[in-house]
Amino acid sequence: MGNGHQTPPILLTVAGFDPTCGAGIAADLKTFAAHNCYGVAAVTALTVQSTQGVRAVHAIPAATLRAQIDALAEDATLAGVKIGMLANRANASVVAEFLDKYRFTHVVLDPVSRPTAGDAELLDEAGLKFVRDELLKRASVITPNIPEAEFLTGMEVKDVAGMKAAGQKLLEMGARAVIVTGGHLDRPIDVLCEGTEIETFGGDHVRSPNTHGTGCTFSSAIAAQLAGGQQLREAVILAKAYVTKAIEKSYQTGKGAGPLNQLFRFHQEPPARGIHEVPQHGMHPASEPATH
Ligand code: PLP
Repeated sequence: MGNGHQTPPILLTVAGFDPTCGAGIAADLKTFAAHNCYGVAAVTALTVQSTQGVRAVHAIPAATLRAQIDALAEDATLAGVKIGMLANRANASVVAEFLDKYRFTHVVLDPVSRPTAGDAELLDEAGLKFVRDELLKRASVITPNIPEAEFLTGMEVKDVAGMKAAGQKLLEMGARAVIVTGGHLDRPIDVLCEGTEIETFGGDHVRSPNTHGTGCTFSSAIAAQLAGGQQLREAVILAKAYVTKAIEKSYQTGKGAGPLNQLFRFHQEPPARGIHEVPQHGMHPASEPATH
């Protein structure tokens, strides 16, 4: 069914829907698009939230999640899978079966458990146990933040030394590679643990209240970079730079923490005030030939 245009890498996100579109599926799809990938999505849960916090979580029935991912994987060749909020054990177990069936080269697991704002759980207790015992070993890389690394390992993480220790523990627990993200530290340092190597990546702390969806954006950017052929180390560096810029270019959308601006590269200055011709079809900037 081609029309001569080349299909970019197709990435699947399996995650929750956040109606503010700052985190979850919407953040993932914007991030994929910003990396010239086409994103498809399977919904694990519908959350009810505003920029001020998560109010409720409605998990999608596991059979419906299974039907979504099977339909997508039977139809398209997926260059990678990003897994975010799973809501509960039943959905986490559907995802494990799915990964066993298709054996994707690139699987990025963001072990989302609690939101920054609001006291709703994004993963239940049994789900967390399943992620720890079964799912993390099925991913090419996992991207816990500090609280998530604490939940998964039972360790206390206060600083970079703690992040390194938790990362190594997660490798011992079966993870193939771990990036513990340090956005919660004064200076955001990420720690990559892979095999016997431990590397730290320092970043600039961008002062912005609009950081909702940072974890989702980071893990999706890594998935896109891996699908584009980057090695994990380079993917981390590029994803970190991208997230930093997206925070720098963020803006407020409601009364609480706004989203990152994943689409900062698409920014166009509004035309100067005055009289404008309506652009001819094919002359409008949006219709410029795209290169993938
Ligand atoms: N809602 C959904 C659907 C999410 O996936 C996440 C995080 O992954 C959140 C809310 C919370 O995002 P944050 O903690 O960045 O505010």
